[in-house]
Amino acid sequence: MAYEFDLFVIGAGSGGVRAARFAAGFGAKVAVAESRYLGGTCVNVGCVPKKLLVYGAHFAEDFEQASGFGWSLGEANFDWATLIANKDREINRLNGIYRNLLLNSGVTLMEGHAKLTGPNEVEVNGQRYTAKHILIATGGWPQIPEIPGHEHAISSNEAFFLKALPKRVLVVGGGYIAVEFAGIFQGLGAETSLLYRGEMFLRGFDGAVRKHLHEELTKRGMDVQFNADIARIDKQADGSLKATLKDGRELIADCVFYATGRRPMLDNLGLETTGVKLDKRGFVEVDELYQSAEPSILAIGDVIGRVQLTPVALAEGMAVARRLFKPEQYRPVDYKMIPTAVFSLPNIGTVGLSEEQAIEDGHTVQIFESSFRPMKLTLTECQERTLMKLVVDADTDKVLGCHMVGPEAGEIVQGLAIALKAGAIKQHFDETIGVHPTAAEEFVTMRTPVKR
Ligand code: FAD
Ligand code: NDP
Repeated sequence: MAYEFDLFVIGAGSGGVRAARFAAGFGAKVAVAESRYLGGTCVNVGCVPKKLLVYGAHFAEDFEQASGFGWSLGEANFDWATLIANKDREINRLNGIYRNLLLNSGVTLMEGHAKLTGPNEVEVNGQRYTAKHILIATGGWPQIPEIPGHEHAISSNEAFFLKALPKRVLVVGGGYIAVEFAGIFQGLGAETSLLYRGEMFLRGFDGAVRKHLHEELTKRGMDVQFNADIARIDKQADGSLKATLKDGRELIADCVFYATGRRPMLDNLGLETTGVKLDKRGFVEVDELYQSAEPSILAIGDVIGRVQLTPVALAEGMAVARRLFKPEQYRPVDYKMIPTAVFSLPNIGTVGLSEEQAIEDGHTVQIFESSFRPMKLTLTECQERTLMKLVVDADTDKVLGCHMVGPEAGEIVQGLAIALKAGAIKQHFDETIGVHPTAAEEFVTMRTPVKR
């Protein structure tokens, strides 16, 4: 059968745009449908605006520390509306870039909600199109538990567009978004509490990293509460919100921000007209080639719920484009050694195994760890410390994991990730000459294991 398109991509986010552009570049006839915003979550309500707000929040400590270097500043004032307006302008610029990227690569762009009407058919704005392959790249959506009063809470989607900076914020959750936004609110001047339901936030990260970040957030005056879970939220007569915890305590705030994970975006997608199956958690089930139970339909990115990070969605999009239209260049995505950063204040950067994971995987580990006051802070009152940690296999000398909490941790770990990917052993780290004076040189000067 002749199809109108070789590939129809649903969703112009990180993964969808990458797959569409590269497939078109390989000579395929490609369409992409986008219902909301070009560039998807990352560009509009994710990585990019988040990082801009983190930069904004960071100025508070820069101003504070400047006096140690002889600067005297007048009273620092922050204007939320200016930050949000400038952020919006930058996002608009990026939306335009995404539009041009797609159009210049020859992709047919359809702006509207796409709905599957069969294994090879998609409907957009009342028009039906046929395609040999369909790629679901619809991403995810914030998930807020349905406790009484949940309608008073906001998610990251709304936080980027608040009219004013709330004075008192309760941030609920203990993952990436919760710690990042707690840092943003706190840095910009809101009284901030971070409430996590378990014993210690950032489940899955190295234990020393979690403990160190907890200490640093507390030093900054953030109210971090573990074993704290909200049972209900009530709006009060003065417009403030009362959160009643499961243990009966009551907390008052102007904003309750939930960051309790993201569900796959499958709303009104028409999956029932196809043989696509979902996994136990409700994400689209795909095999190692991103093919769903319906052979003509593939899925990538957050909607398959593997690793919800932009560079992973990009890699998956690339893999799909190559496999379908340039098979001689196909390489599977390697999910090992994915570096990642949490843009909390201070940042976390991590690649490879945590100490706990390494032990669980059966390694005998040697741990190298250093905690120090960064040079930049020695002329200031700031007592922040940086943590660096290496997890090494004691038998093979292989470096299994690098972890850092401190300024620019993400930037530093990106470089280390290449070394780990190339199979670096601790001896390579020891023989590498440091860059002096930097914080990063500590990664090549830790000589004595703190435990084995
Ligand atoms: P998305 O980027 O979500 O794109 C999906 C697109 O599909 C959307 O544009 C949506 O409108 C569209 N769509 C959905 N349904 C339909 C339909 N039926 N028809 C047409 N279009 C549809 N990752 C990082 O690596 N680093 C970070 O710093 C980072 N920060 C983040 C901060 C926040 C607050 C959030 C929420 C996420 C963050 N992420 C970060 C995660 C990252 O944004 C996602 O992993 C990434 O965007 C996933 O890409 P995707 O292509 O799967 O989906
Ligand atoms: P995460 O899955 O990272 O964290 C969710 C958090 O919410 C966990 O601490 C979880 O606790 C808690 N939680 C889940 N359900 C409930 C509930 N019903 N009540 C109370 N707490 C609950 O999700 P996020 O929303 O923070 O972020 C989504 C994903 O987006 C991230 O996993 C990450 O992949 C990506 N992202 C990446 C960023 C980056 O690269 N810098 C930044 C932001 C997002 P528990 O651990 O106990 O399950």
